[in-house]
Formats: sequence, structure tokens, C-alpha cells
Amino acid sequence: MDPWSDTRLRTVAAGLGWGEGPVLLPAAGGVVFSDVAASILWLWRLDAAEATVFRSPSHHANGNTADAEGRLITCEHQTRRVTRTELDGRITVLADAYTGRPLNSPNDVVAARDGAVWFTDPPYGLLRGECGPDARMEQPVAGVYRIDPGTGDVRLMIGCLDKPNGLAFSPDERSLYVSDTGHSHRPGGNRHIFRFDIAPDGTAGPLTVFREIVPAACDGLRIGADGVIWSTAGDGVHVYAADGAMVGRIDLGEMATNLCFLPEQRIFITTPTRALVCDLPGKAKVRP
Ligand code: MG
Repeated sequence: MDPWSDTRLRTVAAGLGWGEGPVLLPAAGGVVFSDVAASILWLWRLDAAEATVFRSPSHHANGNTADAEGRLITCEHQTRRVTRTELDGRITVLADAYTGRPLNSPNDVVAARDGAVWFTDPPYGLLRGECGPDARMEQPVAGVYRIDPGTGDVRLMIGCLDKPNGLAFSPDERSLYVSDTGHSHRPGGNRHIFRFDIAPDGTAGPLTVFREIVPAACDGLRIGADGVIWSTAGDGVHVYAADGAMVGRIDLGEMATNLCFLPEQRIFITTPTRALVCDLPGKAKVRP
């Protein structure tokens, strides 16, 4: 499919070590995003020319999301934990272990309407040396976990993927979409978005293949209120209908790592080296 030709792109941060994790955070007045390698969380205030430092060091923070109360939830590689930043700035640790052992390196996170926080735990922070010199994989699988909103218990929900990475719920939250970037370290490995039905008892499964994402793979993804899936890929951002058909494409000429929706038909995109604001063309419709 030809890329949307009349997309307007504006770079608001450049020279990043590894851009990731953009989230619109109204309490902060803009988008918080990660430079994972530089261990900085940046803030781009809506319509500012460039970003300013939000938190440094960030413990090599990666994926971010916001919960229903607008609080920032962050995956940290170095400290191998998922945290919540309270509205007064205090940090609450939501998860840093499973069955008494450290997590691998939480990568990306999403909050469900019931208050549960779901996150992926592949070993990329270990592979990139961001978890300390003697750190090693402590969990036997790279899992997808759920943090119970009542008890705070951490439960392994999905253990069958190679390197689970980005994740997002369908609008009715009956399905969870998870990207697997196993391809990054294993030729022929997974580079798919998988869909898991969420059973009435809250368990995740069975799994179906939503689709393979090429070139490269999907790192982060977002799903609009209309069920349209916005996936990152090796050449930019791909837009898919719920049946898997491609309905749009933004060509960046480089890999995109993650995105979030903004008001007024705009999206915010991170790449390994940049953060960009994208004005969508008239024919494109995003439903945040
Ligand atoms: Mg990721």
C-alpha cells in the first residue's frame, strides 16, 4: 500500500539513544516519552517547539501508559520494575518480582478499565546491559503479567511468547493484542501481533495470529476507540482494520518504536533516534 502522502511530520526531539514509550499525560500538559539508553524521561508540552527533561535518571525507563486517574505508569529496565507516579510526584512500585525472583526487564504496559495493569517482560534490558553488570534472566519465560488492582498480586497471564513487547486492548477489552519481537535476536523468529481472547474468569487465551508485521516487526502499538490498530514497523507506522487489512501507512524511512494518540487528528511517534508529531491527512481518522 502506498504511504499517506500528505502526512505532515515535525521532529520535536532528535539525537535520542533509543526513543520509546510516548504517553499523553494531561496532568503534565503533554506527552511523556522515554530515551531508554540515556535514562531520561522527556516531556513535550503540546505545541512546544521541543521537549524538556521530565525525569533524569529514569532507570532506563521504557514503556509508559496512563491509568484512568491520569497517573503515569512506567516500565524500568535498570530497576526491573513497574512503577506508578502519583499525582503528587511520589513513586509507587507496582511490581518488581514474580514468585520471589526479579522480573527480567519490563518493556511495555497498558492499564485496563478494571484498574489492572498488564505488562510485558522480555529480556531486552539485560541484552542491552541496562540492568547492571551481573544481571541475568531471572524468569524462566518472557511473560505477560497482570497486576491485580485490589490485591496488587502479580500473575503470569501469557508465557508462550518469545519476546512479548507492545500490548493494547481492543475497545471492549475482550481481546489483548501483544506483539512478539523474537525476530530481533533469532532469525526466522516471531514478528507478529498475536491476539488473546480474555475469558470471563480473566485468563488470557486462546491465541490467534493477528498478522505478521514487516519490515522488521511491531514494537509498540495502540488501538483506537474504533478498533483500528496502529502498529509500529521497520519503515514507520502501519494502520490495520480489525480484520487485519492494511488501511493506511506512514512512511518514516526508518523504524518506529511506539506511538500515542493526540487530540485534533494527530499522533506522536518515537523512533530509535527521534520523537515526531504527525498531522494526519484528511482521509485518515484516528479515534483516541
Ligand atoms: Mg517496546
